[in-house]
Amino acid sequence: MEKRTLNQAIWSIPMPDRIKRLPISPTGFPVPWFVAWLDGVPDFRVIGPGKLVQAVNRKLCWVCGQPMGVHKAFPIGPMCAINRNIAEPPSHLECAEYSVRACPFLSNPRMRRNEKDMPDGHREPAGVMIRRNPGAIAIWVTREYRCVRDGDGVLFRLGDPERVLWFAEGRAATRAEVLHSIETGLPMLYEPAEAEGPDAVAALKKMIARAEQYLPKET
Ligand SMILES: [Zn+2]
Repeated sequence: MEKRTLNQAIWSIPMPDRIKRLPISPTGFPVPWFVAWLDGVPDFRVIGPGKLVQAVNRKLCWVCGQPMGVHKAFPIGPMCAINRNIAEPPSHLECAEYSVRACPFLSNPRMRRNEKDMPDGHREPAGVMIRRNPGAIAIWVTREYRCVRDGDGVLFRLGDPERVLWFAEGRAATRAEVLHSIETGLPMLYEPAEAEGPDAVAALKKMIARAEQYLPKET
């Protein structure tokens, strides 16, 4: 493969050794292990065939593809910090942190997910995806998670975190940014809960209260 150089936008972000071993895309970004390649070009929006099963069965990092340790890091939106469901398997903390800083979608709240020109046959992730850019992103670090079946996919249920790191625009997020992101996303959790009934609403309220302790402190 031709020698490619990194995109200037991510020059200033320190690169962990595990990320240095990844291939570089034609636009100059390291290509995470999970990404699908089509005709020699990576499509960052699409999960490569068989990658989810391999990551789960062989306990591989979603970003670098190398074996995981005991600490599992999940980059998640604020809504996932409330319901603790996520469609993607864990990464090393350093890999998750690099992704949050370098990935244009994860690091820049003003960018929209690009749904155009999705290749044929791409699969929707399991669970109900909330299709918005969450603005704030958490890295949820935990030793515990469970895989559960969801239709013909799989969902990851997060255990209590050892710690939670919050980011916005590739840097540490303020409490106000995280609260704003949660407030604007909550209707998307309340709507299905209200359709389900009072018990579901009560359960959701408990989950919201439980998440409070993991938000950034007032500075
Ligand atoms: Zn990794």
